[in-house]
Amino acid sequence: EELCNKIAAGEVVERPSSVVKELLENSLDAGASDILVELQSGGKRLIRIADNGSGMHRQDAFLSLERHATSKISSDEDLFALQTLGFRGEALASIASVSRFLLQTCANEDGLGQQIYAEGGAIKRAEEVGLPQGTVIEVRNLFFNLPARRKFLRKEQTELSHVADVVTKQALANPAVSFRMKNNERMLLDLRREKGLRERFAAVLGRSLLKDMLEVEQQGGPDLRLTGLISQPQLNRSAASHIYTFINGRYIRDRVVQHAVMEGYRHLLMKGRYPVVALFLELDPALVDVNVHPTKHEVRFRDQGLVHDFIANALQQTLRPSDW
Ligand code: ADP
Ligand code: MG
Repeated sequence: EELCNKIAAGEVVERPSSVVKELLENSLDAGASDILVELQSGGKRLIRIADNGSGMHRQDAFLSLERHATSKISSDEDLFALQTLGFRGEALASIASVSRFLLQTCANEDGLGQQIYAEGGAIKRAEEVGLPQGTVIEVRNLFFNLPARRKFLRKEQTELSHVADVVTKQALANPAVSFRMKNNERMLLDLRREKGLRERFAAVLGRSLLKDMLEVEQQGGPDLRLTGLISQPQLNRSAASHIYTFINGRYIRDRVVQHAVMEGYRHLLMKGRYPVVALFLELDPALVDVNVHPTKHEVRFRDQGLVHDFIANALQQTLRPSDW
């Protein structure tokens, strides 16, 4: 069982940023409106995430550390109809199996919650404690029991920038949620709740970009919709890193979608100029499989051509001057 967890951990957990990604998804699934990420040494020493979400009742808290105990999938069909970000029910178990792990969670307002401490996946202590509603998870010394893996962690700044990237993507996808991130007690990101994407975009990527941003809003049928912000091609921007794409609220980096975005700009792209893009595709969950890879960045569409052309056309129409 523990070996099984460690193997699974290899798939889900690569570095601090993959832990943060899973924990943020859980916090968002739990309906949190306030999320604090605290790191030490870029997450190598400590990752601590506190949310004000639903919290867990005592029994669910214990179950959450068991692999697949909480999986929301019971059939193949379910795989295509996922509504929440998490679905495998193995992230917490995997993370716990390769760290010193503390879970504090409280599901009610009377303030009595559960605290569970585990080392390498084995529960060492558990007790009831007074807590505010929500969940705190601390992950210390990631891979302390897998030295070969620990060796592959990079220097603090590198791990930190990967974590910041993950937080940024979730922040763009969830403007109504406040995100804060600290490293070694220093506040690096302090995003309050915003009305919508424009405000959050400005807070994350810079207000100066906003004046050049065009709003995308296209309906491609009852179950297909594209919204977001796109720029005219910008000078000296790195090609990939400023294209943020999301499907049903989930960050993705998909070949078909990337290609469609470039296709949308085809008539405009000039050497050394690249767009800034934050695009949200919403489609019937039955038409997209997000379960291609555990890190869930790639997807498979039922009708890849349809989605590709819809995105490319939407961008072309948005970028075309109105007097054409
Ligand atoms: P999954 O997200 O795939 O269900 P996880 O291992 O990530 O699996 O989480 C297991 C379960 O623990 C979740 O389904 C959820 O019920 C619960 N859980 C995890 N994190 C939180 C959180 N921050 N707040 C409330 N419940 C949580
Ligand atoms: Mg999860």
